[in-house]
Amino acid sequence: MKKQLLGATITLVIAGMCSTAWATAGDTAAWSYSAPTGPQNWGELKSEYSLCSSGKTQSPIDIRDVIKTDAQTLNVAYQPSTAKVSNNGHTIQVMPVDAGGITLESGHYSFVQMHFHTPSEEMIQGRTYPLDAHLVHRNPAGELAVVALLFEEGAHNPTLEPILAAMPKHAGGSAQLDTVDIAQLLPANLNAYFYMGSLTTPPCTEGVRWNVLTTAVQLSRAQLEAFQALYPMNARPVQPLNERSVHVGG
Ligand SMILES: [Zn+2]
Repeated sequence: MKKQLLGATITLVIAGMCSTAWATAGDTAAWSYSAPTGPQNWGELKSEYSLCSSGKTQSPIDIRDVIKTDAQTLNVAYQPSTAKVSNNGHTIQVMPVDAGGITLESGHYSFVQMHFHTPSEEMIQGRTYPLDAHLVHRNPAGELAVVALLFEEGAHNPTLEPILAAMPKHAGGSAQLDTVDIAQLLPANLNAYFYMGSLTTPPCTEGVRWNVLTTAVQLSRAQLEAFQALYPMNARPVQPLNERSVHVGG
């Protein structure tokens, strides 16, 4: 498969440990996407992971019945930033220095990191997409808001390309990107499904504000295969909706 570098200067860095917003170094081998440490057993692997099985507001979900509202809008104010691209053993993660953030009704959330799942964790009316990106944001109180961006197979995605080209092949590896511009990844229509959910990886912490963009963007088959060459399947199955409702603006 071909990989193109579109003007991005990439410096390979050897990093001994991975880090994510919620996973601490050293626990990366404790859970996976296949038995016996797969999603069905996450809740039993560690007491800290118990919400993965006992939680009632877990993510992802299959978005089916939605309540229309005027109020839910997603205000984004992203800016280009340098970024670190790391392979943390579960996914590829992009961590900008200062990429701006989003404003929800509940306030402002700063962009922390973005990572990918294949296939998409979110389902829309029972449909799975080949890839999703989770844009993770945090407010000063430490509360999380995630924007989920769905990808469908189609045209080459030039914004994604420098990230894909920089992906370290081995867990623990990282690389530096001169610039990543999150805004360029987004569709023109920022209408989103909103619901309260959780982290989709252990410890499955709840209270996460999910904003699933209703409009998908495209990537080429070669780009999808480049990610899947590293992570063929890293998606948690959909979880019961229980008492929750999903709202959509517009
Ligand atoms: Zn995710």
